[in-house]
Amino acid sequence: MSHLVTLIPGDGIGPEVAHAARRAVDATGVSIDWEIAELNAALILKTGESLPQSVVDSLNRTRVGLKGPVATPIGGGFASVNVALRKRLDLYANVRPVHSLPGIASRFSDVNIDMVIFRENTEDLYSGIEHEVIPDVVTGIKVITRTASIRIAEYAFKFADQLGRKKVTAIHKANIMKLADGLFLRCCREVAERNPEIEYKELIVDNASMQLVIRPETFDVLVTENMFGDILSDLAAGLIGGMGMAPSADIGDKYAVFQPSHGSAPDIAGKGIANPIATILSVAMMLDWFDHPETRRGAGLIRRAVEQVMSNPSNRTADLGGPLSTTEMGNRVVTQCGQLSE
Ligand code: ATP
Repeated sequence: MSHLVTLIPGDGIGPEVAHAARRAVDATGVSIDWEIAELNAALILKTGESLPQSVVDSLNRTRVGLKGPVATPIGGGFASVNVALRKRLDLYANVRPVHSLPGIASRFSDVNIDMVIFRENTEDLYSGIEHEVIPDVVTGIKVITRTASIRIAEYAFKFADQLGRKKVTAIHKANIMKLADGLFLRCCREVAERNPEIEYKELIVDNASMQLVIRPETFDVLVTENMFGDILSDLAAGLIGGMGMAPSADIGDKYAVFQPSHGSAPDIAGKGIANPIATILSVAMMLDWFDHPETRRGAGLIRRAVEQVMSNPSNRTADLGGPLSTTEMGNRVVTQCGQLSE
């Protein structure tokens, strides 16, 4: 059985890391028909749209995408590509697993970190409702709805239940934003009551930030709003070696797009030194999402290959203090996938 996937190489370091991820899948023997969709800053400027129709048409055919990062052109009022994609396809759950690999030299290398952050993806301050009241006075509106809060909480609890996770922690700032975050929290509590077998906790976002740094091993599943989720998931990526190690998925009821948590990294684009592991782990999430025995086997192979490759301290790209290029690192994982699948 073959699966049809839209491959959006993106720009900056996107094409390099997306290529490595595609090769890793191919090495597992899982059959994917890749439909390439161009999406980059140049195309956005040319079409005048953050999300050109050609990309939406492809995703309408395939329902699933593997995406490299895309830089949003600065100025010209373009919406972020990811925000546009999430709203247009109703990709309401941003899922970011944060899993430490033994041997990665981070300040937390002796700590076993294994958490998954569920970030609501469609509203909050990202709704883009800003208003200049009078010159030099601007308001930005935080939108929180019951519908979106319930569904992200349900998604997080469902995931926790399916994977045998023990605890869900809701992160909020309801002590200050009493109405908006108060509603988010009420929705999380309501879903928690329906799932009594899973421990439920709440943490105020500033406290959560400190706890994530001093005892990251105590976190399991986190559920939060859009803005807090964005910030906390980058913080969490820093605990496991940085942006090059942090995969992510944007999932809705009809569509799913898998991409690394990082951006297009213009500072290192074209140098061939980007770490492809975040994108390779994102494509493993995609294979799990297909939920087919063959693709689940492929996802497991990729994860094991990454763990085995990273257990050798000389297998490191520059962000982790090593000498390997993007292609060399990709080759190591591809070779390991090939050996494991024999
Ligand atoms: P954008 O505007 O597209 O979000 P950015 O540079 O603001 O780009 P990131 O692309 O996430 O944000 O990069 C943040 C930092 O992390 C940069 O210094 C970048 O070089 C580094 N970085 C991001 N991804 C990787 C990667 N895969 N490998 C190595 N370094 C990376």
